[in-house]
Amino acid sequence: MTSIGFIGLGTMGLPMAKNLLRAGHTVTGFDVKPAAIGALAESGGAAASSAIEAAENADFVITMLPVGEHVKDVLFGTAGIAPSIPRNALYIDMSTIAPQDTDEVAKRVAEFGIDMVDAPVGRLSKNAEDGTLLIMAGGHHNHFERARPLFECLGDTIFHCGGPGSGSRMKIVNNYMSIALNALTAESLTLAECAGLDIGLALDVMRGTAAGQGHMSTTYPAKVLNHDVTPGFMIDLADKDLGLALEFARTTNAAVDVGAASRSLYTRAREQGRGRDDWTAIYQVVRQLAGLPAEDEQTPK
Ligand code: NAD
Repeated sequence: MTSIGFIGLGTMGLPMAKNLLRAGHTVTGFDVKPAAIGALAESGGAAASSAIEAAENADFVITMLPVGEHVKDVLFGTAGIAPSIPRNALYIDMSTIAPQDTDEVAKRVAEFGIDMVDAPVGRLSKNAEDGTLLIMAGGHHNHFERARPLFECLGDTIFHCGGPGSGSRMKIVNNYMSIALNALTAESLTLAECAGLDIGLALDVMRGTAAGQGHMSTTYPAKVLNHDVTPGFMIDLADKDLGLALEFARTTNAAVDVGAASRSLYTRAREQGRGRDDWTAIYQVVRQLAGLPAEDEQTPK
């Protein structure tokens, strides 16, 4: 039977630890909040009186903590677990932390002779309860394969994103997109309301276009990711329409800060003489700004 030390039994960690228990693993849990440890114990887990106690006899040690400082403190602080994790155990950090922190943690645990996988999760606490998380793991292939059976208890969608640190990087990229889109969604619906439109109807309309269906699922695979920037909808027209929206918003109280910030990319594309390219060519403009190779060197999806 696999023995797991689980540290950080919060909104996500507690249901995840319970799913590992349900799958027949032995889970010894620790949290700075005694009530969280009690909740795990009620479900058949073992209550540890310290993080070290949770880690010291484990085959796997999992941390699910708020930020990088917590992870580093649990590992390397005054009562840090790094010296106590058995050398043949695998350490898995499932917290969402800065990739720079993940790299530092990986380097420092390696100095203790411990193998590590970074594996942040996507989706919500309900998915943590249902065992339907999306897991983005980074680490050496054999370490990932060793962790996979545990991931299968926690999620239904598991990606090996690459070497050490790539799970943490993937999670940050994913959250950048979904968090920025959240703000743009709020702006768009507010603009609709300020325009006197019915919100339910606005949702129906936008769910029927790239606005709601998402460029990654619609325009990008059809055009720029397919190396085709001949105009379906050209940048000049997209820039015109964005200008119309920004101008119209000024006649209302709606804030359109996210949309206004995006205008500079359309302006730049037009200045580069790309006004007649497809609007998805904005991606090429942004890649160029990042110093990435030209489009014909991209891998189509
Ligand atoms: P949370 O605050 O509910 O849980 C964190 C737990 O860690 C708390 O119970 C806290 O007491 C404990 N903790 C803090 N410091 C500790 C220490 N030194 N030793 C032991 N325990 C300690 O947070 P959460 O929502 O469970 O999120 C955990 C991580 O998962 C975060 O990095 C978060 O960004 C990420 N995440 C959260 C969600 C979500 O929907 N909540 C979704 C995906 C990813």
